[in-house]
Amino acid sequence: MKFEEILSAVKASIWSLRDRCIGYLQLRKQRRLSRLIINELPEALLNGNIYLVYQPKFNLQNNNYDGVEVLLRWNHVRFGEIDRGELFRVVEKSGQVHSLTLWILQRVLEDQVGIGDQMLLPFNINVSGQSLCNDEFISAFCTLATKSLASIGVEITETAFIADARAALANLVRLSSIGIRISIDDYGSGHSSLAYLKELPADEIKIDRLFISGMTKSNRDPLIVRSTIDLAHALGMQVVAEGVESQATLALLRMMGCDVAQGFYISPALLIADLRVFIADPQNLHRLSCTGVSVTPSRAFWARDERSAGADRA
Ligand code: C2E
Ligand code: CA
Ligand code: CA
Repeated sequence: MKFEEILSAVKASIWSLRDRCIGYLQLRKQRRLSRLIINELPEALLNGNIYLVYQPKFNLQNNNYDGVEVLLRWNHVRFGEIDRGELFRVVEKSGQVHSLTLWILQRVLEDQVGIGDQMLLPFNINVSGQSLCNDEFISAFCTLATKSLASIGVEITETAFIADARAALANLVRLSSIGIRISIDDYGSGHSSLAYLKELPADEIKIDRLFISGMTKSNRDPLIVRSTIDLAHALGMQVVAEGVESQATLALLRMMGCDVAQGFYISPALLIADLRVFIADPQNLHRLSCTGVSVTPSRAFWARDERSAGADRA
């Protein structure tokens, strides 16, 4: 064997060993995090390390707030902010997701009472697919929600229909029948299609931020967004754009006839006290209602033209 061949064989085995070490360390870290989440969750719920934040949604049709999305945060004393994706993956696996979501609903109802009827905006809670298929969870959720005058919505993703589509659909109908608004979350990020959406009693779809963040830079994303808006409207649903991070994106969405925008440009998720201050400040509504920004292609290209919209429908 030549020296070069021996050298490259040694290099290859060093790289492979390194990859296996990294994989092993990542697995160990993930296992440690899973154990931590399962063991420390009950205590964190009691001591306030787990808390809720609220992200406002802005209605582009009437220039007012449309509701808020409820998001969970866990600020761990040693590990800092716990990743939400990982957290919900673990609590779903350990079967704790139902009780955690009921805890969230209870908290939301208390927070809504605390801010008075100054704002009876719908508060959207994320409900995992596993919970949507669970009749007991849905009964408990409905009982709690109907005890209060609060306006509640749920956000679900299409994965809710993978395990037991019939149970998920039946429970969505139950939620909808007591006045809970239904949102289809992360639309476009999976294998969903509007054909399947027409079977669901959904009030709105939320277009995934994957398509929104590149809207002002790419040619394809705005086309996808605009055709999704048109199709959703044809099915009688409201459209929410997620991940709106700039004024240009907001202006483009407004031209396309999008109903609602959510994202860091509107506001990050806020503690309940800060949400109240944000909503009460007229300067925020003023900033969001202004459309003074130019977009490319030109306004005429994207604008919803009533005559052509009518011709399209005819
Ligand atoms: P999601 O339901 O799609 O929530 C929206 C996520 O996008 C939130 O991340 C929010 O902070 C983030 N976001 C909002 N605006 C922007 C923006 O303009 N740009 C960018 N880049 N991101 C933005 P977060 O809080 O980390 O939550 C991540 C995911 O964790 C959520 O995605 C949801 O699937 C899950 N999650 C969070 N809270 C809950 C909960 O209470 N229950 C359940 N089942 N899942 C939750
Ligand atoms: Ca959501
Ligand atoms: Ca989402």
